[in-house]
Amino acid sequence: MLSIDNAVTRLASLITPIKETESVAIAEASQRVVANDVMAPVSLPPFNSSAMDGYAINTSEGNDVGTEYRVVGTSFAGKPFEADDVPARAAVRIFTGAAVPDWTDAVVLQENVERQDRAIRLNEPVTSGDNIRLIGHDIQEGERLLRQGTKLGAFDISWLAACGVAEVSVVRLARIALFSTGDELQDPGQSLSKGQIYDSNRTALKELLRSKPVEIQDLGRLPDDPIEIERAIASNSKSVDLIVTSGGVSVGDADYVRPVIEQLGELTFWNVALKPGKPIAVGSIGNALFLGLPGNPVSTVVTYLLFVARAVDALSSMATTGPLTIPAVLTVPLRHSKGRREYQRGILSRNGNTLCVQATGDQSSNRLATLADANCLILVPETVDSMAEGDVVDVLLLPNEAHHIVNKPIDPSARERT
Ligand code: AMP
Ligand code: MG
Repeated sequence: MLSIDNAVTRLASLITPIKETESVAIAEASQRVVANDVMAPVSLPPFNSSAMDGYAINTSEGNDVGTEYRVVGTSFAGKPFEADDVPARAAVRIFTGAAVPDWTDAVVLQENVERQDRAIRLNEPVTSGDNIRLIGHDIQEGERLLRQGTKLGAFDISWLAACGVAEVSVVRLARIALFSTGDELQDPGQSLSKGQIYDSNRTALKELLRSKPVEIQDLGRLPDDPIEIERAIASNSKSVDLIVTSGGVSVGDADYVRPVIEQLGELTFWNVALKPGKPIAVGSIGNALFLGLPGNPVSTVVTYLLFVARAVDALSSMATTGPLTIPAVLTVPLRHSKGRREYQRGILSRNGNTLCVQATGDQSSNRLATLADANCLILVPETVDSMAEGDVVDVLLLPNEAHHIVNKPIDPSARERT
């Protein structure tokens, strides 16, 4: 059995990132991956602007308490004060976001002056630069605004808008063909005959993939019939980047997915030391990557998070830092056997300054109920047997694939100004 880390490495080696790019309007760019570094076309702010409501003055003409200035006009946001000539010790009434006149170097807060008709008197000393947001304080024209590989979210998109960027070059959507297999499957909304269950995996996968830059071809549910499975895979493998299936990858008499892959393409690995989700089948058919997920609903979700999400990110050349794990203290002992790494559904909570976690109970891989209750997965290492109350474990946040969304190299100093 392949370790999860080796499986992830082998999966990565199968992926050829998508080369094609397209330009999209920022309103259409959510979840897309930036194809090239984006440079700021303007500085932000674009002019020296006031951070507060007050009076703009030139401190070289006096900055001590008691100094008087004559108010010669007003600068509103969007309506700058403009005058060719101003007298000595002139002040301009100014509001937040308004342009600061070139001949001034500080804004005095309105509460720090005494206003007398057309004059002000300083009640506090003022220092050059006070309450002025300098041109380019946020970003300078020509500086990098977004890195290649950034997955665009609300903050990135508003950052583009703030710099006046209306379109952005992104990696084309990854094309995914998706189907579930199983003679027992029925669609929600239909009545169940004896022995049937509803197909939930296809819905789970489509919902999980919503936050990814993908275009999905839903091929529906297929019976446990090798000919139909082969036809679906063969006829779609040339037009998609990735085929994802659920069910039929074990060693049962009705498990036809693996043999079909072996026949049409290459099965790179099968059987990973993972619980739930051991019998995942990974391979390729021509240029299309293939990920056959096990049918038990929780196994489908866990293998999606560990393998499908990663594969899609890599296809899109998304810059990722890998899963973000959080340490937490077990409040209830965990049952586990050495050999496979287990992802138990858990509930993470806070007790004072401690993050606490407990499993949601019965961990059978068919139980969606315990997944719906969970807000995290508890990572139980392959090297240990059961774990005790008080032991520290790593957890991965759910839902929203929170452990996959840390997609930016974290370097707060990059935006520091000295
Ligand atoms: P399989 O991986 O095909 O052996 O299926 C394992 C278990 O998952 C069986 O109990 C199946 O009935 C169930 N199962 C398979 N596919 C689905 C699906 N699409 N939705 C819900 N349960 C499924
Ligand atoms: Mg099946």
